[in-house]
Amino acid sequence: MKVLVINCGSSSLKYQLFDMEQEVVMAKGLIERIGLEGAQLNHQPKGKEKHVQAADISDHKKAIELVIEVLLSSEHGVLHDIEEIEAVGHRVAHGGAIFSASILVDSQVKEEIRKLIELAPLHNPPNLLGIEAAEKLLPDAPQVAVFDTAFHQTIPAKAYMYSLPYELFEKYGIRKYGFHGTSHLYVGQRAAEMLGKDFSELKIITCHLGNGASVTAIGNGQSQETSMGFTPLEGLTMGTRCGDLDPAIVPFIMEKEKMGTEEINQMLNKKSGVLGLSGISSDFRDIEDSAAQGNDRAKLALDVFVQDVKKYIGAYIATLNGLDALVFTAGLGENSKEIRAAICQDMDCLGIKIDSDKNHVRGQEADVSTEDSSVKVLVVPTNEELVIARDTKKLIRLTPNE
Ligand code: ADP
Repeated sequence: MKVLVINCGSSSLKYQLFDMEQEVVMAKGLIERIGLEGAQLNHQPKGKEKHVQAADISDHKKAIELVIEVLLSSEHGVLHDIEEIEAVGHRVAHGGAIFSASILVDSQVKEEIRKLIELAPLHNPPNLLGIEAAEKLLPDAPQVAVFDTAFHQTIPAKAYMYSLPYELFEKYGIRKYGFHGTSHLYVGQRAAEMLGKDFSELKIITCHLGNGASVTAIGNGQSQETSMGFTPLEGLTMGTRCGDLDPAIVPFIMEKEKMGTEEINQMLNKKSGVLGLSGISSDFRDIEDSAAQGNDRAKLALDVFVQDVKKYIGAYIATLNGLDALVFTAGLGENSKEIRAAICQDMDCLGIKIDSDKNHVRGQEADVSTEDSSVKVLVVPTNEELVIARDTKKLIRLTPNE
């Protein structure tokens, strides 16, 4: 069974084609600058040369057309017939309070995703465009939506409610939703497999540390708490996002700097985080390099980030009443031994001890804790696309007329 996984951003489209018999990636790629000048496809077929192609790609439908074309091409392709794609799995950012699991897409599901645009104005519209384009171009393949928020639907009300007038929750759905759910679930489950334990019996904290970053407390195999909130802006300091703030700062800045809602949103989402603090870059590699050369603001940005992660780990140990495994994933979590070491430094009072030799790993699964660390510290590369493909396969197999 072959499953195409699609992840549409506002001007980009990532795809992976899986053969689900062996769970192998047959091809993967990225289209950038959709709707803009200089659009480009980067395509990597398994066992063949990488293919880069400039193209005129006006919208997401054109982008998926190009993906299908390249998957079928004799030179760069991996398929003989479009019919080989049995189903399509889509990453959808916001499933609100209505979707607590992946779902087969029908007109009602699309309508609900459309209604949720209000909560995810940047993400749900391109996700929906991707679904509609794939429906047109692959009319015989069922489509499945996999939500970033779904795993966090188990978070109890005491953790997802904000202390605002209750009517605002009722009127607008203002509450914590959490994001990166697919990643937190995947690495949590892999951690349990690595430890040879039952996922539902472990207390796990998963740290998804990429450009966007979040920490999740997992107990009973369910998300109990997570650092992102109503939007992906809450929680940790990130590449360009501010994370937690005193909310009084927002109207203060708006007044002092004469900013409107658009501008302040832009500032909090795109100009803050380690970029704002360091004034150098949103990329942690640049910041680590500058800090190593003695740049104080780069060092400060890293210190703030590390402090944030530490605080959430401490809080979530209290939430879970203990901890069996601390898991690092995503760009930074998988690759930066310095950041992992800094986060775990002076955490022995909580039973967390990292082994500096074992911590010398990049992008591969590893147990990096010392023999006497009561908490296992693990590095687990995330694989959101595989989770989407697995959910898609599962839902297709469950459909009676398939
Ligand atoms: P996204 O949230 O965009 O999916 P990723 O999970 O790919 O992000 O993570 C991107 C971040 O990871 C970037 O800030 C990048 O600097 C950081 N990163 C990747 N490799 C390293 C590394 N070796 N050392 C430090 N940071 C790294």
